[in-house]
Amino acid sequence: MEEVGTGLLDRLDAMQRVAASAPGGPLLIVAGPGTGKTRTLTHRIAYLCAELGVFPHRCLAITFTRRAAAELRERLDALLGDGAEDITVGTFHSIGLTILKENAKAAGLGANWRIADDREVAEAREQAGDDDLAYKKLLRQQDLVDLDDLIELPVKTLRDEPALVEKYRKQYPWIFVDEYQDVDEVQYELLRLLSPADGNLCAIGDPDQAIYSFRGADVKYFLRFNEDFVDARLVRLTRNYRSSAPILAAAVQAIAPSSLVSGRRLDPARLDPEAPLVGRYPAASVADEADFVVRTVDELVGGLSHRSLDSGRIDSRSVIAGNLSFSDIAVLYRTDAQSGPIVEALSRAGVPVQKRSHNRLRDRAGVQVIARELRHARGLDGTLAARVKLTAQVLAQRYAAPTLDAEQLAPEDIWAAADLLQPLAQRVGEDLQTLLQEIEIGAEVDALDPRAEAVNLLTLHAAKGLEFPVVFLVGCEDGLLPLRWPGSTPSDDEIAEERRLFFVGLTRAQDRLFVSYAARRFRHGSEREQSPTPFLDAIDSGLFERLGDTVPSRPKDRQLRLL
Ligand code: ATP
Ligand code: MG
Repeated sequence: MEEVGTGLLDRLDAMQRVAASAPGGPLLIVAGPGTGKTRTLTHRIAYLCAELGVFPHRCLAITFTRRAAAELRERLDALLGDGAEDITVGTFHSIGLTILKENAKAAGLGANWRIADDREVAEAREQAGDDDLAYKKLLRQQDLVDLDDLIELPVKTLRDEPALVEKYRKQYPWIFVDEYQDVDEVQYELLRLLSPADGNLCAIGDPDQAIYSFRGADVKYFLRFNEDFVDARLVRLTRNYRSSAPILAAAVQAIAPSSLVSGRRLDPARLDPEAPLVGRYPAASVADEADFVVRTVDELVGGLSHRSLDSGRIDSRSVIAGNLSFSDIAVLYRTDAQSGPIVEALSRAGVPVQKRSHNRLRDRAGVQVIARELRHARGLDGTLAARVKLTAQVLAQRYAAPTLDAEQLAPEDIWAAADLLQPLAQRVGEDLQTLLQEIEIGAEVDALDPRAEAVNLLTLHAAKGLEFPVVFLVGCEDGLLPLRWPGSTPSDDEIAEERRLFFVGLTRAQDRLFVSYAARRFRHGSEREQSPTPFLDAIDSGLFERLGDTVPSRPKDRQLRLL
């Protein structure tokens, strides 16, 4: 018989294996970008279930976004096959919602409680003014809860009912939390209730990628893990499999001045001596910066403008030249406003782009109306088909499209007709009730299709956790990154968080990284002189290859004038 653990853990390196096969009890895995956190986490769960006899239905894996949850689920399915579906994987909100549903009465909710939609929340806030208590009271009078309640109410209920705490601890003796550096106070309290101080809680994350303090996240919970959970085991992963050596070296130097990890180490697993340096482009203007991106994309995928001129449109297969395709490329920026000129320039050159932003499903036009209708259908014991039909009827009324026949429509048509965009349309196959739940908890629309043959445009926040062969980090300017509003000075903590954001951006790149900044930019109502971000100063100039020049030297022109 095989030695326990071999096989399953073969695809891990020595430290990843130590983390994945650690015994029960509190476990903190501190791991930098590209060190294989998700890989390690999924292998740990798989190992515990397959080798140590832990029941999958006793495992609870918590993530922050639906995308991360879906990825975790997918990888667990691949690793474990049968049985993986018994593992509970969810976001903090979806788990809070489940607890609330199971204990609505204990939480003080009535029989018909539900999550308030945006309009209902706004109404309660007008009426209540600044008084938070009054606001919550107004919601409760209507048997409504808001999104914060989804975690706050379970915490309160569990605190009041020790028997419930016991129940959930028995139900989920194994808990796994990804991106632990991003927990906020209420989420942390929920975890403390769900896991005893000596429980089998496995938290994984990177304090240097904590970028959500504006949303209440506090990296202190990560840093004091070993005080909160007794005899916590600590495992560090320091081998980076993602980035070329020069890219990794630049990133490590960039984070050094405010690293929260003592003795931070990141060693490149990739040691190609030919690896290109980090491209650094000082642009004269925003338009120049956008042109630089277009030119470089053109070079990388090989003469695309030529091809697109020929055929009038780009054949996605023809673009995969030199092993690079559009989807291998990402353009990252600090603020969404920066994407405009880049999208425009790329589109003008015939380059397909896809943009990702943190849109919430419930913010989409029409979604709330549909959600309201679906909610009414809840008690009807309707099948999925019936619900879809109902949705179609609602849409037909709203959009009054003559071709819309609710009886004959395929679900895809329904969503398309509602202009609810692709991500939603793709999901119609799923249980609508799940979809409805996500609408209610404000799940994000993930508009980024990894298979789409298009250059990816994302904010730095949205790029977290992703990797791309080629990354452009544009707008590396003081005032943009770190972001600063006129008349306000960011605190040291805020600057440090911006630096971490810069670090997140740099570490998305696998093979090619380009940083750029413009000498002038229109911001806050006027054209301003910009200087490069001081964050760049932390990086050894030997790691850069300087591209282009801010002041275009035009010897021919000068000669003409001299003559
Ligand atoms: P981030 O902090 O940016 O989210 P991460 O720690 O979650 O990064 P992953 O995305 O899991 O890192 O892994 C980064 C890359 O390294 C992936 O392409 C992954 O397949 C690869 N990788 C991880 N571990 C190994 C390994 N042991 N051998 C080879 N490749 C690996
Ligand atoms: Mg990750």
